[in-house]
Amino acid sequence: MNKASGSCYCGIIKFNMWDFAPDYGTCHCTQCRKWTGSFYSALTIARDHYKIDGFEHIIWHDQTAQAERGFCGICGSSIFWRFKNHKIGQMDFAVGMLDDISQLSQSKHIYCAFKRDNYELPNNDAPKYDERG
Ligand SMILES: [Zn+2]
Ligand SMILES: [Zn+2]
Repeated sequence: MNKASGSCYCGIIKFNMWDFAPDYGTCHCTQCRKWTGSFYSALTIARDHYKIDGFEHIIWHDQTAQAERGFCGICGSSIFWRFKNHKIGQMDFAVGMLDDISQLSQSKHIYCAFKRDNYELPNNDAPKYDERG
């Protein structure tokens, strides 16, 4: 089964995840651009399939009525996205924080209509949607 680990830039937040689907999506929307400075590639992990050390250092930022984003309060790494309804329990982890992504595959690109012109979408089979997809 799949396993992965990762950390923020300064290392005070560390995480492990296991038994997850290896597909991750990349979002090119304006909110993700403002939050990351580029785009947000994230792996969604279900409740009880991840463990986060240093959780108390995460600062949560209200994004929408339904969602919030979490970043490291020490180094500022933009890492997490989750539903405000914590009963759902799943967490999105920025793929750039992972130690190894060789088991993962990029499954789709969303909100491509909002992408800036300073980078290109990869020329591969992953579907590219103008909006949510
Ligand atoms: Zn940090
Ligand atoms: Zn987005």
